[in-house]
Amino acid sequence: MVKTALEEAAHKLHEANSVVVTVHVQPDGDALGSLLAMARHLKNIEKTVCTTWGEEIRIPAHYKWMPGIDEIVDFKHCIDADVLLTLDCANEHRLGFMEKRLTRFSSIINIDHHIDNSKFGTINVLDFSASATCEIVYDLLRVMNADIGADISTLLYTGIVTDTGRFQYSNTTAKALRTAADLVDLGANPNAIFQNVYENLSFASLKLLGVILERSHYLEDSGLVYSYLSDNDFKQADAAMADTESFIDYLRIAREAKVAAIFKETSDGKLKVSLRSKGDIDVGAIAREGGGGGHRNAAGFTLALTIEDAVVWISERIKSQSTATAAS
Ligand code: 5GP
Ligand code: MN
Repeated sequence: MVKTALEEAAHKLHEANSVVVTVHVQPDGDALGSLLAMARHLKNIEKTVCTTWGEEIRIPAHYKWMPGIDEIVDFKHCIDADVLLTLDCANEHRLGFMEKRLTRFSSIINIDHHIDNSKFGTINVLDFSASATCEIVYDLLRVMNADIGADISTLLYTGIVTDTGRFQYSNTTAKALRTAADLVDLGANPNAIFQNVYENLSFASLKLLGVILERSHYLEDSGLVYSYLSDNDFKQADAAMADTESFIDYLRIAREAKVAAIFKETSDGKLKVSLRSKGDIDVGAIAREGGGGGHRNAAGFTLALTIEDAVVWISERIKSQSTATAAS
């Protein structure tokens, strides 16, 4: 019998005594949900687990409530193990400082749903139709005959609800909804998760949403709606970039918006760009050209340009994609 990648991964994890579980830097709900769900299951079956990611660990305020979040440790403590399990990580660079440690591991299981995944694992469990890495983790846990209780269900539901934009983006498939329904049966509480994730902003950060909306611009020729926050805006509101993760959803509600962009100035003066598209524009391709990546309708990258130049750079690419689509 030919083993599927899921079965191979399950087998390798059952065989292992110790596992380092990790995700991309600046983890979002899907990264944290899949990280903590896998760590919890592996601990439940008596594995030695190191749960980490490759930068200084800072937990976004709206994810601090997640079950097992206190068990995340600094990557410096995660040195050797039988298996390195990476989740929601499209390529080696997204591992941050963990990238340098890849050669220490003879087995690397790479579980992900990004279409541009570089297949850096020794076992690659890739499902580009999965709404979230958490959806794949659910399939894996079923293959592993895991005992999926309320905590694991809550973690996986969190990843799916955040990566689908609350079940509204184009990756909201019937399978995503069915998986979410299973997770509710198994103990996830959608309303509690919604409040913890989406109604958990400091009042000062709420004001930043006002700033973003007030500063928003619309470029008719490309269909780009964009806005920005400076490093000083974050400092004044005592907010982290992650606190403003969902703000881009408010820019895309404009009927005119083909693509929404938010530029966030980092402390070293660069621009972290988040892009979302509603239709045919492939913002993943634009982000890759800028050295980042992501999905067709949701992507990100970091640019060393001024906002004005970045806007021109992105608009040009939207326009050339629109022209190519119109011509085909
Ligand atoms: P966000 O805009 O919320 O930061 O990210 C949207 C999507 O793009 C996520 O799937 C995220 O993993 C991906 N993404 C964001 N920034 C980067 C980046 O710098 N490199 C890559 N490869 N993907 C990114
Ligand atoms: Mn994801």
